[in-house]
Amino acid sequence: MRGKAMRDRVQKKLKAWNKCEKCPLHVFRRNVVLGSGDVPADVFFVGISHGRSEELLRVPMTGRPFRLLWNAMEAATEMADLSSSPSWYMTNLLGCRSVSRLKTPGKVVDREPFKPEIDKCWPRLESIYHIIKPKAIIALGALP
Ligand code: SF4
Repeated sequence: MRGKAMRDRVQKKLKAWNKCEKCPLHVFRRNVVLGSGDVPADVFFVGISHGRSEELLRVPMTGRPFRLLWNAMEAATEMADLSSSPSWYMTNLLGCRSVSRLKTPGKVVDREPFKPEIDKCWPRLESIYHIIKPKAIIALGALP
């Protein structure tokens, strides 16, 4: 089972996370961002948390720094003269955007995740890992 069927399997297996309330971040979220990419995948990119636009798109790692990374990956693939590009899947430590509420009603600010939040969301990451079976994991961002 490859391609779309596998991607559907990821979404189906992770469906319950769309309604997850295991940590307080569910209070602020608009959407859970499960992950995106090839299934199975050679490389598993794991970031920290997504931003506002990624939350609306439900796709992680779409900001400018990531566009630069994807371009660099493509350039490296060409330079290495590989017969095919490595496949990759991307997600974050957290399924929900990591924010704190500001005093202004309805306003939030992005922040680093707290360890209990990461611990609660860890099974989601493990589930993805077991489905995509990557050869390499690349962690992005600062250490929490
Ligand atoms: S961050 Fe993860 S554990 Fe917390 S509510 Fe969202 S999906 Fe659930």
